[in-house]
Amino acid sequence: METETYEVLIIGGGISGAALFYELSYYTNLTSIALLEKYSEVATLNSNATANSQTIHCGDIETNYTLDKARHVQRTAKMIEKYCLQYGYEDKIMFKHQKMAIGIGYDECRFMTKRYEEFRVLYPYLELYNKEDLEKIEPALIFDEKGRGRNEEIVGVGAKDQYTTANFKALSDTFIENAKQNEAMQTDIFFDAQVTKIEKRDELFYVETKDGRKFQAQMVVANAGAHSLFLAHQMGYGLDYGQLPMAGSFYKAHKRILVGKVYMVQNPKLPFAALHGDPDITLDEQTRFGPTALVLPKLERFRSGTYLDFFKTLRLDSNIVKIFYDLLKDSDIRNYILRNFIFEVPYFGKRAFLRDARKIVPSLQMEDIEYAKGFGGVRGQILNKTTQKLMLGEASIDTGEGIIFNMTPSPGATSCLGNAQRDVKKICAYLDKEFDEARFDQDLVEGEQE
Ligand SMILES: Cc1cc2nc3c(=O)[nH]c(=O)nc-3n(C[C@H](O)[C@H](O)[C@H](O)COP(=O)(O)OP(=O)(O)OC[C@H]3O[C@@H](n4cnc5c(N)ncnc54)[C@H](O)[C@@H]3O)c2cc1C
Repeated sequence: METETYEVLIIGGGISGAALFYELSYYTNLTSIALLEKYSEVATLNSNATANSQTIHCGDIETNYTLDKARHVQRTAKMIEKYCLQYGYEDKIMFKHQKMAIGIGYDECRFMTKRYEEFRVLYPYLELYNKEDLEKIEPALIFDEKGRGRNEEIVGVGAKDQYTTANFKALSDTFIENAKQNEAMQTDIFFDAQVTKIEKRDELFYVETKDGRKFQAQMVVANAGAHSLFLAHQMGYGLDYGQLPMAGSFYKAHKRILVGKVYMVQNPKLPFAALHGDPDITLDEQTRFGPTALVLPKLERFRSGTYLDFFKTLRLDSNIVKIFYDLLKDSDIRNYILRNFIFEVPYFGKRAFLRDARKIVPSLQMEDIEYAKGFGGVRGQILNKTTQKLMLGEASIDTGEGIIFNMTPSPGATSCLGNAQRDVKKICAYLDKEFDEARFDQDLVEGEQE
């Protein structure tokens, strides 16, 4: 049985799909939208609070971001903050923690000090902390288990009064709830609706789910996480991309060791956040360390049945082999991959991880931490066959033919409202509808309110 024709159909109810659903409902004059989600509720994969690091990445302490990238993420991160303040979600879904990135040793300390000077133009609230400051505000960074102070030089750059942390699952739930308040628009959600087939005929998209339900739409946006590229390939799009799923795991402490978020200087060659430690909002603020990075031959972390999907989206050929060869040639990357593999091995993993985590907390002991079972997710990193390079960050395939596919590794949760805004504009242009940008800016863009 075929349902009516929706103007827009969103595939995937993680934070990206939910944010788009909200913006379409709130800021456009569309009349009917629908969202199809594979599982029985929204945000159970990477957008779940236990899957990611819960950080609102605004570019101030992400040491691998250029000033330009920082400016871009700052804008989208502020949208999360303004959205939450608009609805009174502070201290419920969005939280303030002290945060900093630390440099250890001569080179990193010089790097961090220079970066502080450069970045405080964009982030005037940034502070530079020396060892004595850190002793007071984040003492676990300084003292070992015998109470002796750290020998190496250390500096921190950070802030004490910013919104830093979000429960992205809870946030996704609010996007859906608030979107459904618009009675002038049909806003339908279908759960347990895994899309298996999309076809375009006579300017309409025909979408089918695994259990045989059929939908029609004028426009489709796939926000299906690591499966977006899988769906794109099925339709013959994005064939110059392969995908490498990088799982991230965590270790958790049995107590609150760190006052706030502590990141380390990031290796610019690696597309993943360096190891960090912070209070986990799902673990009663006890400290969580991670994430690790491990190639996993599946597209969903704790679900079965996506091994074949991995092989299909990898699209293994000589270009992909060349990308792997170039990556493995670099000893930094080789060692990183090996260490991260060891982190997952019982017994040895914890010992190896402890050594790395002690760079942040010198007093950390074996009995203080354990592997956080069930925590973590998968970042689908894009391999560009044309440039023969691993792409750092997010990607979007806009076919220009009424269907868009979004791939959203970190910081995709932070940038969900910004990415959705980009797509809302495209959707309205394609369907000849209106986007109320003035209202959007007033509600969600910094400097446009009050
Ligand atoms: C270890 C780790 C740490 C991270 N830390 C951070 C962080 O601190 N801050 C940050 O901003 N970002 C972080 N990220 C990235 C962030 O989690 C993701 O960018 C974000 O959750 C992506 O959201 P999404 O909605 O695009 O994808 P997902 O959350 O993966 O959602 C995709 C949805 O699509 C559904 N779906 C898939 N296939 C189909 C289909 N065929 N039919 C219907 N539905 C389908 C899935 O069931 C799922 O609900 C981290 C990621 C990882 C793995």
